[in-house]
Amino acid sequence: MTDFRNFIDGRWVETGKTFDNRDPVDNRLIGRVHEAGDAEVDAAARAAKAALRGPWGQLKTQQRVELLHAVADGITRRFDDFVDAEIADTGKPYDLASHLDIPRGAANFKIFADLIRNVPNETFDLETPDGGHALNYGMRVPRGVIGVICPWNLPLLLMTWKVGPALACGNTVVVKPSEDTPGTATLLGEVMNDVGVPAGVYNVVHGFGPGSAGEKLSRHPLVDGITFTGETRTGEAIMQAAAVGVRPVSFELGGKNAGIVFADADFDRAVAGIARAAFDNTGQVCLGTERVYVQRPIFERFVAALGARARGFKLGRPKDPGVNLGPLISQRHRDKVLGFYARAKEEGANVVAGGGVPDMPDGLAAGAWIQPTVWIGLPESSAVIQQEIFGPCCHIAPFDTEEEAIALANATPYGLAATVWTSNVGTAHRLGAALDVGICWINSWFLRDLRTAFGGAKQSGIGREGGVHSLEFYTELRNVCVKR
Ligand code: NAD
Repeated sequence: MTDFRNFIDGRWVETGKTFDNRDPVDNRLIGRVHEAGDAEVDAAARAAKAALRGPWGQLKTQQRVELLHAVADGITRRFDDFVDAEIADTGKPYDLASHLDIPRGAANFKIFADLIRNVPNETFDLETPDGGHALNYGMRVPRGVIGVICPWNLPLLLMTWKVGPALACGNTVVVKPSEDTPGTATLLGEVMNDVGVPAGVYNVVHGFGPGSAGEKLSRHPLVDGITFTGETRTGEAIMQAAAVGVRPVSFELGGKNAGIVFADADFDRAVAGIARAAFDNTGQVCLGTERVYVQRPIFERFVAALGARARGFKLGRPKDPGVNLGPLISQRHRDKVLGFYARAKEEGANVVAGGGVPDMPDGLAAGAWIQPTVWIGLPESSAVIQQEIFGPCCHIAPFDTEEEAIALANATPYGLAATVWTSNVGTAHRLGAALDVGICWINSWFLRDLRTAFGGAKQSGIGREGGVHSLEFYTELRNVCVKR
């Protein structure tokens, strides 16, 4: 049994109140999480504030850069521990955790450490009315204490995506990981201490959202800005909390992303790409595709091919050979996803693949397993097509013209990502311009260049992070005007 403790001011803090942490693979109890209350959240915010004025605030940029490289190296040195913690948190296959989550966790520190050394500065020479001059120059200063509130689907990757730039810019952080995935954020505290990051720079408080550590953190007056990844509705609640004190927010929220496949696309590549986008990480990827629109001449062939893919996954324990799909994160989330599966049937969907709970061998039956599922035949007004499910499933509908595909893809309140599959360069550019999304992939999916802007349009987010765009949230741009 693991004890997941809070990490506050460089120390491990237990509380009188714990909740269970279960393995989604078999529902086995694997740990107790110490829920932070008012006192712990307050202590973490105070420690983070004090660290800004302490040794951390005195470091030169180069020293900060070196420390962040040491953090990245620390993650890499304890690679196996991080993979095991990620697997225990999520139940995802070893292959995915070891190729995506943990390497990106380390890379998130390196890329922002390197970026901060090369930030350009604006200067303007002003000719003043008295015939003199004034030099204006921009200066980026840390925003202060950043509250980092994270989801459970890519726990280390998405948390370090925020902590990396926050620390690179000289801020301190209080992280609230998801109640379902306390492991990697806690382990990172050990790395921070091991490599000598000053106490109070990185703090972790555990707990839930409303009435618990998440809400307490978002309301804490010493928190100067909140970066959040999670559901759109949670974003609304956090935004209300942040309104008190006019604190800025950066939000990466939900999606209901479309994949559009034209008849001229490389068929096999499109099927493989959409299969990844729909089913990878058991469909628990904000950028994933739950709505697929396929041009009519290839519709039936595509449906058959994607259905075959959905049936071809090997479900099982994360480290078992050949396993390429894990369970959902929890029984609670599975109930939600199964609710959509039931609704699809009620509304008359034709179930091409899956549609329920798989038969799992003894020992795994109690896990949060679910079948990868493909539907056709639902009306666009269906909740299955309009609402984010966050499971391994997608609905496929045919389209005839480019205009129709664009209209269908844009017809939800979300605007996170889209994928377009075509061999026509004109179509590719027109769709890139016409789709109301933050990220449009052409003939690919989840191909991430960390220097680029990342974020969502419409109800999928506020602001952009990535590369220099992260500076907009993690720093204040001050102007200094010097009269000659
Ligand atoms: P969630 O919104 O339920 O929870 C996210 C975090 O917010 C958790 O740590 C939770 O404890 C906390 N929280 C909940 N209510 C809160 C409140 N009132 N105040 C403060 N904190 C609160 O999301 P989830 O279920 O953990 O994650 C899945 C969601 O995340 C999906 O909607 C998915 O699309 C989204 N997501 C978006 C991106 C992106 O980059 N746009 C990336 C990954 C996940």
